[in-house]
Amino acid sequence: MISKSLKAVVLCSIALFASCKDDKNSEEKMAVNETDNVLLQEWTGPYQGVPAFDKMDHNAIKEAMETGMELSLKDVVAIANTSDAPTFENTIVALEASGDKLNDVTTYYGIFSANMSSPEFRGIQTELAPKLSDYRSKVSQNEKLFQRIKAVYDAAQKNPLPADQQRVVDLTYKQFEMNGANLDIEKKKRYAAINKELSSLYTKFSNNVLHDEENYVTYLNKNQLGGLSESFINSAAKIAADKGEEGKYAITNSRSSMDPFLTYSTERDLRKIVWTNYYSRGDNGDKYDNNALIAEILKLRKERVGLLGYDNYAEWRLQDRMAKTPENAMALMEAVWPAAIARVDEEVADMQAIADANSDAIKIESWDYRYYAEKVRQKKYDLDSDEVKQYLQLDKLTEALFYTAGRLFNYKFTPIEEGKVPVFHEDVKVWEVTDKASGKHIGLWYLDPFARQGKRSGAWATMYRSYTSFQGETNVLASNNSNFVKPAPGESVLVSWDDATTFFHEFGHALHFFSSNVKYPTLNGGVRDYTEFQSQLLERWLSTDEVINQFLVHHKTGEPIPASLVEKIKKASTFNQGFGTTEYLASALIDMKLHMADPTNIDIDTFEREALAELNMPEELPMRHRTPHFGHVFSGEGYATAYYGYMWADVLTSDASEAFKEAPGGFYDKEVADKLVKYLFAPRNSMDPAEAYRLFRGRDAKIEALMRDRGFPVPTE
Ligand SMILES: [Zn+2]
Repeated sequence: MISKSLKAVVLCSIALFASCKDDKNSEEKMAVNETDNVLLQEWTGPYQGVPAFDKMDHNAIKEAMETGMELSLKDVVAIANTSDAPTFENTIVALEASGDKLNDVTTYYGIFSANMSSPEFRGIQTELAPKLSDYRSKVSQNEKLFQRIKAVYDAAQKNPLPADQQRVVDLTYKQFEMNGANLDIEKKKRYAAINKELSSLYTKFSNNVLHDEENYVTYLNKNQLGGLSESFINSAAKIAADKGEEGKYAITNSRSSMDPFLTYSTERDLRKIVWTNYYSRGDNGDKYDNNALIAEILKLRKERVGLLGYDNYAEWRLQDRMAKTPENAMALMEAVWPAAIARVDEEVADMQAIADANSDAIKIESWDYRYYAEKVRQKKYDLDSDEVKQYLQLDKLTEALFYTAGRLFNYKFTPIEEGKVPVFHEDVKVWEVTDKASGKHIGLWYLDPFARQGKRSGAWATMYRSYTSFQGETNVLASNNSNFVKPAPGESVLVSWDDATTFFHEFGHALHFFSSNVKYPTLNGGVRDYTEFQSQLLERWLSTDEVINQFLVHHKTGEPIPASLVEKIKKASTFNQGFGTTEYLASALIDMKLHMADPTNIDIDTFEREALAELNMPEELPMRHRTPHFGHVFSGEGYATAYYGYMWADVLTSDASEAFKEAPGGFYDKEVADKLVKYLFAPRNSMDPAEAYRLFRGRDAKIEALMRDRGFPVPTE
């Protein structure tokens, strides 16, 4: 299955060395604790200390971040200025141990930006973006520091270190090299200036999208509710009332509101309005329009990698990814694309036939796709999404996650009583994770399930503290975040099959965090086109018999989902793959093409249109993320020329899930599960992903399983 939401993992992305690390070093913090800034206080309380989420105050974040950066730089300068000859211990290990205050503060900063944003915070963010960029440049361009790293790296090429130490050295050196450490002084200056400018553009880009998400709300009156479910109507009424429009029904400009509305609403004109609002985010020709910003971003990115001698951004970016080159990534996408658009033609023909039979007298347009697809689904598979929803309760799905983690990872999840661990919103719940057999404490799992004002859309996972053992074992603090619509009091949260899949997906990221057994913080980093694989694979457990029979029960009667309905869901799993694969691949291809093109006189709107035409993009559907709101790619660099990674990872996912299907114990086969944890989860980035995969599967992954999963013709050699 393809990614269902904005599944960016907000991990290690804010500052160069500023996340995914833990601190054991409490003495150093005494001085800081004398300040009265709540966000600079040491994490205290049970479970090795936890973030003081209950004391979060956006007035404190600016000073806290600035102090964090200052302290971290102090650490770095001290390492750089050591007079002893550079060694693994005094340089690499010291670097791994540095910046712990900033790591902690970055957790709060991440919560403010993703879970609790506000106009005030966005102002602070805009102010901080260039400072963070300055900070990163000061670290990555510290000449003395780099020379020490280089000395350790060079020595290790001659006399290799133990495998995990060697990998930390290699990754650290590579990261510095890729970020301009080898440049001369003039070029370094320009490099840093570009990054500073980019960081401001990224913040502006995402704030523009957020503006358009918050300000284009479609209000319905009670005569315009045709086709919509009771629970959808209730929540739309509540959202409208909260926005001061009592008696109306609000369709917000977010995926979780747009998608069900377009699927079920019988009001075609309104569907067009809601569709247009959603796909025009960042593209409204006003002061929140992102097109010019994007052109600027592309030019700066190209100039920056040019300083390092690369032809284009994609080439620079992919060198340490599993794909290695843009050509490898393009080859995969181009191998799947023709089958995807051919399937769209078939899907549109099926939909048009239904419209004609209904005498609807229309030609299928983009705002009709979901609506008629649902009709085809009901006819062809006799599958009613709303009926399926009756068996998908958030609470039960949460239990299903725990069950899966118990069977595969031997984990036990125990709810933590309210008040024991601070949370930043009353909706957030916390569980303790322990090993089922030994009882060993592993960490805490935070769940923030519901949509609200100021929370970014989609679903994601984050880590507040990662596992390392180089200074004694640390526990893991991980979170999952979703945007389920909060039900009216006393009602169950019923979710769609797709949302349930995403829920499993994000939990896969959390399990990847919890299962880490690496010694050094750097080894917890993700390889972008590999790190979605583990979470995509976990989606597969939703449709296992064990989960279905125990947890997919009717929210009113408690009856398990009928076998016939399950059979239909399975049969329908290849349904609408033309739409899903095409909307995704269009975004992934445009991401790559934008970064391989010459941006000198680029006009984003024209580029997007022409590139899609060249691909023979079917006119009946849009890209999943159109360029002007493609936050994966332009609100930072996390997924720039990396959106293909979901499919790259999906090749591995399909292939790996066939390993389970072939095993005697199926998806709960003990032997395969042990290998899964040992080779694919626990090592994180401590070994080369291709090698890890070979250890799991005994060979490289093949594309055939992916084509089978999507119901596409399997290519013959
Ligand atoms: Zn993901």
